[in-house]
Amino acid sequence: MTLKIFVAGEWREGRGDPMVSRFPADGSINAELNAAGLDDVEEAIAAADAAWRAPAWRDRMPHERAEVLYRVSDLIRERLDELAALQTRDNGKPLAEARGLVASAAGTARYFAAACETLEGELPTQRNVDFMTLSQYEPLGVIAAITPWNSPIASEMQKVAPALAGGNAVVLKPAEATPLMALKLAELFEEAGLPKGLLSVLPGRGSVIGEALVRHPKVRKISFTGGTSTGRHLAHVAADKLIGTSLELGGKSPTIICEDADLEQATKGVAYGIFSSAGQACIAGSRLFIHRRRYDEVMARLETIARELRVGHPETPGVHLGPLISEAHRDGVAAYVERAREEGGRIRCGGVIPSEGELAAGSFYPPTLIEGLPHDSAVCQEEIFGPVLVALPYDDEDELVGLANDNVYGLAAGIWSADYRRALRLAGRLEAGTVWINTYKKFSISTPFGGYKESGLGREKGRQGIQAYMQQKSLYLGLDHEPIAWSD
Ligand code: ADP
Repeated sequence: MTLKIFVAGEWREGRGDPMVSRFPADGSINAELNAAGLDDVEEAIAAADAAWRAPAWRDRMPHERAEVLYRVSDLIRERLDELAALQTRDNGKPLAEARGLVASAAGTARYFAAACETLEGELPTQRNVDFMTLSQYEPLGVIAAITPWNSPIASEMQKVAPALAGGNAVVLKPAEATPLMALKLAELFEEAGLPKGLLSVLPGRGSVIGEALVRHPKVRKISFTGGTSTGRHLAHVAADKLIGTSLELGGKSPTIICEDADLEQATKGVAYGIFSSAGQACIAGSRLFIHRRRYDEVMARLETIARELRVGHPETPGVHLGPLISEAHRDGVAAYVERAREEGGRIRCGGVIPSEGELAAGSFYPPTLIEGLPHDSAVCQEEIFGPVLVALPYDDEDELVGLANDNVYGLAAGIWSADYRRALRLAGRLEAGTVWINTYKKFSISTPFGGYKESGLGREKGRQGIQAYMQQKSLYLGLDHEPIAWSD
């Protein structure tokens, strides 16, 4: 299958280098395509800039813009199975997980359609009798959306839906490894009747196509999800252009098992928080702090759970962990575990690249549980983005908070405790944009999401999610019949 890319409302051969989409479970080829070239970037942006200004979009009432998003949401739900299967081919997630992501993309489109229909301007309290003021929300213009490979369609929809709802046009550059779902999304928007030019999808290298896109003078906002070093670079680009960013970056999220936690629930939750998606999630709960009195019991339970999780072909029902995105990425994860060994860490389970059967054919890695490392070691401090959990005991709350916050990231945290007063007190002290208490990795599109510290800037989701793609214009309406009086 040779794929075309979607530029300015047309399907065409990309004008960049050839690229290949592979199935991470066995390395087989999903599709071959030509990446977008610099001419495609230029054309997509010119079309986007014309399209958001055109009456066909600009003059559409919000509830009419919302119609497109409602239709996309319906199309996604109708094709859930087909899209989930494609998602699994694209990045290797187990089918059940892929279904969840696809369904969440339908929910996101519906939510931002509703947000678009009901977004109000503001009527500030009046401070004068001779004029009144109004404040209305307007689009920014052309949005550059850049997405990673770990949650295709969900992360794309999280940017495309609110940006379109806000009256903008979007040029989307998906990750090199996962072009399929982003191109499928373009197909769905086309079928839903989105006017041409409002969405282009440009697969290609970040350093070439992504870079040209964000630097383009017509791009008025960068919405990025990915690694912190790329995010930092994009923040510099945005600073030079004086444009806004939404940056959703890395994490090394602490999860805490308090002395009073229900250990069955807590250990299953912790295992889900790190090992689902094979740990390839910015919010993965990858540092575990356990109250010393429960430490041995928690570790024994976790080891049992980790050994029972099924690693396997993502199209096989009942599999918990599919392959990692690529061999190169898997080798990077394995290198961290080697480093843990060299630094004196004990590997309670996992930690060996599978070399037999179907697992030898893909980039698989088993659930891995490490203990005995100092908190300042690389494995405790750096984002690994794989199924690797590092555990540490703690004795008291002040020590715990100090350790949990001792990291450059601040994306998420988890607390397991039977006492909500304790949990809420702890939650208040943690430097994290999201804190889950007695649950983990649950999401609601109506709840803002984003990071503290080096985990990012700005918030996605929630009613503010659409305002992130808009700017406010204030209007002053004079009420006086007399000429303006000069003040003495
Ligand atoms: P990861 O999530 O693998 O750590 P990155 O942060 O490098 O990866 O990638 C996330 C997205 O950012 C991808 O779509 C990638 O192509 C893109 N990207 C990488 N470098 C740049 C860049 N200089 N400019 C724009 N986009 C980039």
